[in-house]
Amino acid sequence: MTVYQAARRHARKMLLGVAIGALFIIAVDAWIGHSSIAFAIVIFGLFMANIGILGFNCPNCRKNLFFYRGILMLPWPNKVCGRCGTDLTKVPASDA
Ligand SMILES: [Zn+2]
Repeated sequence: MTVYQAARRHARKMLLGVAIGALFIIAVDAWIGHSSIAFAIVIFGLFMANIGILGFNCPNCRKNLFFYRGILMLPWPNKVCGRCGTDLTKVPASDA
């Protein structure tokens, strides 16, 4: 598995998590009438799941695949490193 594939797998899991989280909030809101606690649980869960995003770095310069110019977080990983231009679809992941 390459760095990009591993990061893409994580991105897919996160998108699925967001979708499930949104459905969970809607369902709790429909059942109980208010969803602030469900919302807090989902945000916390997604935040914890998203910590893994920090492990997806360029093997050459350690720039994170999910950050654009170091500030903006992307929902999808970069195929080519924005700093050093390494093709991340060809580099095997170190800890996959
Ligand atoms: Zn790089």
